Amino acid sequence: MAAAVELVNSAEVPDTMTEIAQLDEFFDRHRYSGDRTRDAGELTAVRAQRAPLRRLLTADRDTAVGLVNDILAAHRAVPRLVRHDNLDYHVHAVPSNAPLDVRIAVETAMAMIDLIRADELTRLSICADDTCEGIVLDLSRNRSRRYCSTACGNRNAVAAYRARQK
Ligand SMILES: [Zn+2]
Ligand SMILES: [Zn+2]
Repeated sequence: MAAAVELVNSAEVPDTMTEIAQLDEFFDRHRYSGDRTRDAGELTAVRAQRAPLRRLLTADRDTAVGLVNDILAAHRAVPRLVRHDNLDYHVHAVPSNAPLDVRIAVETAMAMIDLIRADELTRLSICADDTCEGIVLDLSRNRSRRYCSTACGNRNAVAAYRARQK
């Protein structure tokens, strides 16, 4: 889910998913596995997932259910338990040679299943910064996260500090 949030937020200005090297870094950081083509087509396809994933991550519960079911059906997802690299058994719902954008979409849908079933969609919100539409994923126990990034958090902390000085 953190990967999906980061991917959606990369569309905020300035766009941080415009080069294959940025996709490489994203892929490694979130420990994605499976095949890559590492070409412009793959990057374009991944970038094109950002708008639909944003709709999914900001949907209300019933809407999210419909979107998740649509994604799983569209890609004929078949859950399988797999073990690879240093990871113990976990579920993959599409083959590791499916296109990267498909794997990201299906994996996000699978992560949304957990949030929907636990009725925890409030873990996802929009950044409290007035000028930012980034998505915030708050997995903290006390649900204290309000900003999508440390940059947004710091900017607002400085603004609040200045306001107090007046
Ligand atoms: Zn895996
Ligand atoms: Zn933000």
